[in-house]
Amino acid sequence: MILTNCVIITNDDKNNFYEDGAIYIDGNVIADIGDRSDILEKYPKEEKVDLKGKLVMPGMICAHSHIYSAYARGMSVSKPTDNFFNVLENQWWTLDRNLSLEDVKLNALTTYMESIQNGVTTLVDHHSGPNSVEGSLFAIGEAAKELGIRTSLCYELSDRDGKEIRDKEIKENIDWIKACQKDDNGDMLKGLFGLHASFTLSDETLDKAREAMEEVYDGYHVHIAEGIEDEWETIRKHGKRVVERLDDFGMITENTLAIHGVHMSEREMDILKKHNTPLIFNPESNMNNAVGCPPIIRAMEKGIKVGMGTDAYTNDMFDSLKVANVLLSHNACDPTKGFGEALEIQFTNTPQIVSKYFDKKIGVLEKGAYADLITFNYDPYTPLNKDNWGGHALFGLTGRLVNDTIINGEFVMKDKIILKVDQHEIHAKSIERAKEIWKNV
Ligand SMILES: [Zn+2]
Repeated sequence: MILTNCVIITNDDKNNFYEDGAIYIDGNVIADIGDRSDILEKYPKEEKVDLKGKLVMPGMICAHSHIYSAYARGMSVSKPTDNFFNVLENQWWTLDRNLSLEDVKLNALTTYMESIQNGVTTLVDHHSGPNSVEGSLFAIGEAAKELGIRTSLCYELSDRDGKEIRDKEIKENIDWIKACQKDDNGDMLKGLFGLHASFTLSDETLDKAREAMEEVYDGYHVHIAEGIEDEWETIRKHGKRVVERLDDFGMITENTLAIHGVHMSEREMDILKKHNTPLIFNPESNMNNAVGCPPIIRAMEKGIKVGMGTDAYTNDMFDSLKVANVLLSHNACDPTKGFGEALEIQFTNTPQIVSKYFDKKIGVLEKGAYADLITFNYDPYTPLNKDNWGGHALFGLTGRLVNDTIINGEFVMKDKIILKVDQHEIHAKSIERAKEIWKNV
């Protein structure tokens, strides 16, 4: 298939930009990309899809989210949420304890659909649901398969629901990672080992997690120093800081995703840097929970690769991009900060961080990369070119302007219609279940 008659932002190493371009997709990869006349001349017999001047760019990547929080939209919480611990206990941990496996799959379908509508083609999730642990990652994986979205999953290990559930959580992570390593899923499904956070994990539990992972993999997905409580509790109980403690367990590796880092110290940043462990920034979530602004600019100065997530605050990465810019700028009281960093985090670092888990590159449009891309109905009223597309991405584009989403060489949304499932039927079921769940929150 050749996508033709389009403006193309490639986001490749050379920052190639085509004002009148075409992309030849062979199977699930980009086989060629360039000026329309060149591509059409080279492959005259290929089927053509006329994009009628639309803007094309790589699919957006979300490096941290929580599908399980889908029913929270519009939900009221009766107990206090006046500090970070109460936000967890009274909102998120009450919600996730009420989820059945059917809910888990419904949450995945609705979140993935909204992600696809907003141009997200790869989503890295961190799941929790202590009363439906067994098979939960497989239920999310089924939803991803049905919709055709690329995803990486893990289960959030924690001591908060007792040892029996804890052991199931360890098993679910390992079963899922092994299934992904063994199954031929076309490189669409991946697994990491999920850990909630240092302050909800005992030494015994971390030992068990590490032992279970020894034969399998060394990639963890863990919240670090999101609230100050994580640092306080870790220092009080273990006499060291969060990243120091996880490093002592061998869990700070190149394949680990460290999430938030709001309260991390210089020494903790040095440990992340030493192991080339990426840090994932979730600006809206940090602001919403009022936990503070992580030292993102300092971390980047130290050479830590910072990527972008949403923490499920939104399913639109353009929202995160906009807020990353204003938060970093505002926090630094320096208008020269924020803009460049936000673009680097979303468009340079996140593709590099998440591509590492897959066989081919994502987040760039170049020969040999996976054909994960999006089109926009975007009619700019100022010049758009290779030097300023970042400004358009930040101030002009939003998820709502996405018209088509192609993942792994296949249209999964065309002209704003989700192709593979009946979206309205799924939404109707989700509304019915949410009403039931809300009675318990
Ligand atoms: Zn999170």
